[in-house]
Amino acid sequence: MPDSTTPPTLPDASMLRPGAGPLPLVVAGRPTTAGQIVEVPSPASPNGGRSAVHADARIVANAAAAAESACKTCAALSRRARAQILRGAAGYLGEHADDLAVSLTLEVGKSLRDSRGEVQRCIATLEAAADAVAELGGREIPVDAVPVGAGRLAFTVWEPVGVVAAITGFNFPLLLAVHKIAAAVGAGCPVLLKPSERTPFTSVVLADAVVSNGWPAEAISVLNGGPDVAVALCEDPLVRLVSFTGSSAIGAKIAERAGRHLKRVVLELGSNAATIVEPDADLELAARTCATGGMAATGQSCISVQRVLAQSSIAADLAQRIGAEVAALPTGDPLDPETVVGTLVAPTELRRVADLVQDATAHGAEVVTGGVVDGELRPTVLLGVREPARLCHEEAFGPVVAVMPYDDLDEAIALANSTPYGLMTGVFTASIDTALRVARGVESGGVHINDSSNFRADNMPYGGVKASGLGKEGPASAMREMSVEKVITVRLPA
Ligand code: NAD
Repeated sequence: MPDSTTPPTLPDASMLRPGAGPLPLVVAGRPTTAGQIVEVPSPASPNGGRSAVHADARIVANAAAAAESACKTCAALSRRARAQILRGAAGYLGEHADDLAVSLTLEVGKSLRDSRGEVQRCIATLEAAADAVAELGGREIPVDAVPVGAGRLAFTVWEPVGVVAAITGFNFPLLLAVHKIAAAVGAGCPVLLKPSERTPFTSVVLADAVVSNGWPAEAISVLNGGPDVAVALCEDPLVRLVSFTGSSAIGAKIAERAGRHLKRVVLELGSNAATIVEPDADLELAARTCATGGMAATGQSCISVQRVLAQSSIAADLAQRIGAEVAALPTGDPLDPETVVGTLVAPTELRRVADLVQDATAHGAEVVTGGVVDGELRPTVLLGVREPARLCHEEAFGPVVAVMPYDDLDEAIALANSTPYGLMTGVFTASIDTALRVARGVESGGVHINDSSNFRADNMPYGGVKASGLGKEGPASAMREMSVEKVITVRLPA
């Protein structure tokens, strides 16, 4: 059980500053520093490193037992009460927005500007979740449409699935956690959050944000740690659903582990997103949007514009325009408020992405802007990227836009579909027929017409197909994933 000698107050934004001491775990709504302390360097500043306590299998079991004991209390909270908790949590994040944004930049390396945007999206997501709670209702089933249902009334109710394990990746440490915690609170499910060990800090305040607004303390734990903690969550018999955001390779392992115990899984995984640009498109809009969509979060976004599929007659012109837009983006110190493109989460990631760029040029691609200069990766636009270059089919997850020419729309759609992934796709065109041909032809979880793959409104259904995942997020969809539809039938009086 939680260490009774630890401070009674939950970690808040003041504990996110460098020098504040090791970040505690939250176990059943109580902070604890009992556990291994791990140093976490900051990619944004040599003085920005912090340390965090890691959980272990015993702590996971304690947190899961407390969560299970809170299931009935959570399920009994009215929709109005759950919506109020979510609105209160949105207000809480708003009050601490500046501290949260700095903490995000310190842990991920993306620009402060991007981190501020992430905090605002978290607030909007919590508000959207509060609205969606009221819509989480059942339906009448017309059972008398079949002979055996004559003389019966039937309807469904949506009940909480039970304890949810939320396992997240590093790139949006607060937003990925907010999507899962907001849905769990909205659906009435106790939740155990395991953030990425690379970025364990900012999301810890979510425990305080919901508990201080009325969510039962036992119904939330934040269990920092590595793969062993994720595995313990997948194996715990009390966990009913695992909601995972991360790479496709690890998502497959999570699904396998959870599947052995017949748990539900929701998987939000990797991508290699394509945006198709036709010759009749507004090229200025397409270039600007592809540049910002490729460089947002320093390219560490699952729907980052990685491949721009441009019709051959405009490919060189478009690549130059995107290159000019990218070259004009202020790049450098992530903590400088003017910076747009910060750095990546770790030096190993910079090397990995630089290797992908060098592999593409070795296969004939031309560097339009950036590239690897003196061994250092710059925000990069490439033209003429072709198979077998790895950028054509692997996820780059860095500040690289690869322009790939095509001849006709069938080829563009085939190229868009030619990776293992299928998350989001963009298409720029003035023709509604072309736009709808793309929308119907691509294998992905969504298509954005006259926008890039990188568009996301946090209240829309969001999720991928193929290796990009299973199930949907977005508050209304995620609450359904975390609920069980139960049918109730009534034999009517004769
Ligand atoms: P990752 O898969 O390396 O890690 C994700 C989580 O899994 C972390 O919490 C980590 O501790 C845990 N983990 C790592 N190895 C494990 C193992 N062997 N067993 C169990 N758990 C393990 O992902 P990442 O590098 O943190 O995040 C980047 C990836 O996430 C990219 O592929 C990106 O596209 C994807 N992503 C997808 C979405 C989406 O909504 N589809 C959103 C954001 C990020």
